[in-house]
Amino acid sequence: MDPLHDFTLLRPTTLDEMVKARRKAPSARLIGGGTDLMVNMRRGIETPQTLIDTNGVAEMASIRASTKGFEIGASATLASVGQHEKLLQYFPAIAQAANAIAGPIHRMMGTVGGNICLDTRCIFYNQSEWWRSANNDCLKTVGEMCHVAPKSKGVCFATFSGDLAPALLLYDAEIDLAGGPRKRTIPLTDLYIGYAKQDGSTGDGKNYLALKKGEFVAAVRGKNTAGLVSAYDKVRIRRSIEYPVAGVAVALKRKGDKLADLRVAVTGTNPRPVRLEGTQSLCGGPLTDDVLAGLDGLVRDQIMAMKTTFTPGMYRRRVANVLAKRMVRKLWETAGG
Ligand SMILES: Cc1cc2nc3c(=O)[nH]c(=O)nc-3n(C[C@H](O)[C@H](O)[C@H](O)COP(=O)(O)OP(=O)(O)OC[C@H]3O[C@@H](n4cnc5c(N)ncnc54)[C@H](O)[C@@H]3O)c2cc1C
Ligand code: SF4
Repeated sequence: MDPLHDFTLLRPTTLDEMVKARRKAPSARLIGGGTDLMVNMRRGIETPQTLIDTNGVAEMASIRASTKGFEIGASATLASVGQHEKLLQYFPAIAQAANAIAGPIHRMMGTVGGNICLDTRCIFYNQSEWWRSANNDCLKTVGEMCHVAPKSKGVCFATFSGDLAPALLLYDAEIDLAGGPRKRTIPLTDLYIGYAKQDGSTGDGKNYLALKKGEFVAAVRGKNTAGLVSAYDKVRIRRSIEYPVAGVAVALKRKGDKLADLRVAVTGTNPRPVRLEGTQSLCGGPLTDDVLAGLDGLVRDQIMAMKTTFTPGMYRRRVANVLAKRMVRKLWETAGG
């Protein structure tokens, strides 16, 4: 790793100070735990002159959860989310996702805001400066072409691999954004614009968040639905401290022998976390092989198979598929008992 460059560190202690610091230095980077940003800085991927630390702002560190819903501040640590009794009880997918991120030290440092806004990843990008330059820098940094898909017409397919987002998406989470021209609240799903369409109509692996200049995530909240059971699981190459090959969050509701609600979201595969469209059409009857085959089709259609990690893209899609079906079966049984 290369040595760090010089930078100024600002440490606001209130949300107002934070907004002011952000307005004064809109090109400054926010730093939560720094467990992703510092690695990128050491690799010369980013060289911000000013960093704004989110950890001193008490208003951004709180976690509230009840049977009805949750609200989590952006500087709450992953460890505090993973250990939160009420999240574990009412929103297990969220707590399980937090507990599946990296290793214990990363979870003590890493924050919810940092995980939601995590940079996208690719084998041609998460490398040292000399490696990238020796391999003809790609277009996510200073190069002109994508080495994963050389005919991509300027589109980057780097993969969003944060574990929390799919679990939050199950609950139609929304996020509070501050620091921009005005405070606003948007659906979490609208934050992620990495659709990677070759007509340039939306974002991709390089331009993957819908944040306006100066904006940052202050909090995330979601609502519960009575009777919903949920879980998060991921497959990784090493059994600890590893990004997902694919991570899957599932929530379902069972009414007697009928599947009344089904929500599935996937990470580690596309330039955005994907809440699968079409799962409601699988509901209304018992959990049959046809329903699982339908789920299979939704994963196949909506999950990307680009080779941005060491594993083949098709394998990642297959993993997402197998995990999703396995989890649906297991939650169905839990909900029935
Ligand atoms: C060895 C290793 C393994 C890892 N494994 C995983 C894994 O399995 N799963 C996983 O999800 N992650 C993994 N990570 C990445 C990282 O540790 C986590 O994603 C962590 O949650 C990032 O949070 P942070 O607060 O440290 O983010 P930071 O590094 O501080 O920030 C990350 C990005 O978010 C921006 N940011 C921070 N806070 C805000 C905010 N409030 N609003 C807007 N932007 C913000 C920063 O400017 C930066 O661009 C791993 C990292 C390492 C080094
Ligand atoms: S997907 Fe292509 S452009 Fe994006 S980081 Fe990888 S090689 Fe670079």
